Amino acid sequence: MLHEDLLIDGKRTPARSNKTRPLTNPATGEPLAEVADGGPDDVNVAVQAAHEAFYSGPWRKMNSSERTKVLLKLSTLIRDYQEGLARLESQNVGKPIREARDEAGVAADCFEYYAGAVNKVGGQTIPVAASGLSMTLREPIGVCGLILPWNFPLAITAWKIAPALAMANTLVVKPASQTPLTALRLAEFALEAGVPEGVLNVVCGAGGTVGETLNKHPLVRKLSFTGSTKIGSRVMKLASEDIKRVTLELGGKSANIVFEDANLDEAVPAAVWGALGNAGQDCCARSRVLIARPIFDKFVSEVERHLNHLRLGDPLADETEIGSLISREHRDRVLDYIDIGTSEGAELVCGGAEPNASELQFGAFLSPGLFTGVRPDMRIMREEIFGPIICAMPFDDEGDAVRIANDSAYGLSGSVWTRDIERALRVARAVETGVISVNTAHSVHLEAPFGGVKRSGVGRELGLAALDHYSELKSVFVRVGS
Ligand code: NAD
Ligand code: MN
Repeated sequence: MLHEDLLIDGKRTPARSNKTRPLTNPATGEPLAEVADGGPDDVNVAVQAAHEAFYSGPWRKMNSSERTKVLLKLSTLIRDYQEGLARLESQNVGKPIREARDEAGVAADCFEYYAGAVNKVGGQTIPVAASGLSMTLREPIGVCGLILPWNFPLAITAWKIAPALAMANTLVVKPASQTPLTALRLAEFALEAGVPEGVLNVVCGAGGTVGETLNKHPLVRKLSFTGSTKIGSRVMKLASEDIKRVTLELGGKSANIVFEDANLDEAVPAAVWGALGNAGQDCCARSRVLIARPIFDKFVSEVERHLNHLRLGDPLADETEIGSLISREHRDRVLDYIDIGTSEGAELVCGGAEPNASELQFGAFLSPGLFTGVRPDMRIMREEIFGPIICAMPFDDEGDAVRIANDSAYGLSGSVWTRDIERALRVARAVETGVISVNTAHSVHLEAPFGGVKRSGVGRELGLAALDHYSELKSVFVRVGS
C-alpha cells in the first residue's frame, strides 16, 4: 500500500484538511494507495509557490543550455525507472503492462525532445517599413495550470510539463483524481533532475474543488486541460473571465475509412488496435470503422475473428492485450451504451459483456464488442463511448465515406486505408480532423502537432507547435536613425 502526499514548493505535504483518498487497483479491486486529497487551500498555496518561483526563483534566469541539461536528466531518470513507472501506471489504470511500458518510453522521449528544443526555438527579425530593427522575443507565460485525464496519465503529463518547462513557465499540475501516482513520481524526478522548488507543483484532488480553484485563480495565466468536452467547455468559460490562455484536448469519435483496395492483412488488425488500444479509453480511438460495401462482410468477419482471439486478463502479465477499464462505474457506462445501441436497432455481433473467468470477477473487465447495422444518427455512432466497442458501417463511394466521417461533433483523429495515393490525399484533406493517418492507425508522433478541431479542442500539443501555446511573443522595435 502506497502513501502519497501532494508536492508543493518542492516538499511533500499532506492536504491542509488532512483528507486522503483511497485508490484501488481496478483490475483486482484491491487497495493500491492512500493519497492526500487536496482542496482549494492547497491550490492557493501551490499557485502562490509557482508565482514566486516564476518571479523570484532561478528557473527563468537559468540559461538555455542549463535548462536543456535539467530536462535531459529528467528524461534519463524516467528511462532508468521505466519498468517501475510502467508497473505503477498499469496497477493504477488497469492497462496492459506492455502499453504502460510504451507510455513510460514516450514520456522519456518527450522530455528529450523538448530538452533539445530549448535552445533552438527563438523569435524572428522582421523587415518592418519603419527605419530600424523589429524582432520578436519568445517569453514564458507565467503560472500554468495543467489538468489531466486518467487514461494516459504518464504520457499526457509529460506532453504538458515538458514544453511548459522548456519555455520556463512554472506549473501547478492537477492529475485526475483516480490516477495521480505517476504524475507525483515525475514531479519528484523533476526535483532530482534540478527543476527548482516551486516550479512544478502537484495538487491531487477532485475536479470540482482543485480543478475549479485553478480555473478561477487570478494568478494562473494559462490552463491546459485534457479531458471530456463537457468539462473542457466549463474550463474555457471560466478562463474567459480573466482572459487566461487555454489549450483544450477533448473527446473524439474518429473514423477509420477502409477502401476496397486496402491491404486487408494490415487494415484488419489495425482496425482492431486503432479502436481498442487502452481498452478503447483513448481520445483518438477510431471507434467508427467505415468499410467499402464490396468488402464489408468479409472485413467484419475478420475483425470478429481478431476480437475473439484477443488476450484479455491480468494487466501485469506480459502477454495481456486488453486489461481492465478504469473502474466498475465506468464499465457500467460502457455497458449502458451496449443497451442503447441494441435498443436503437444495431446488432451486437460479439463481446460487450463481462468475461466469465473467475480470476477477473473483481476487476472492471469487458470483452471487446462489435456493432453492425448502425446508422450515423444512432447515439453509439455520435457519442464517445470510451470503452472497447467498435461500430462498423458500410459506405458506397468516397464522397459517402467523407460525409459519414464528418457527420460528427468531434474532429480529433482518423485513418484512411487505400493503395491509391491521390484518393488517400483527397480523403486526408476532406476529413475535418486535427490528425489523420494513411495506411496505419498510428497518428500521434511527439515531433508533430496533435490536437482537435470542432468539439475536440483548441490549440495543439506536441511538436514545436506546443511551444507557441506555452509562450508569448513580444515585439521589440529598435529605431535606427539614418
Ligand atoms: P474529465 O473531463 O471527467 O476529467 C478530466 C480532468 O478534469 C480530471 O482531472 C478531472 O478531475 C478534472 N475536472 C473535473 N471537473 C473539473 C472542473 N470543473 N474544473 C477543472 N477540472 C475539472 O475527463 P476524464 O474522464 O478524466 O477523461 C476522459 C475524457 O478525456 C474523454 O472525453 C477523452 O476523450 C478525453 N481525452 C482527450 C485527450 C486528447 O488529447 N484530446 C486525451 C485523453 C483523454
Ligand atoms: Mn470523468
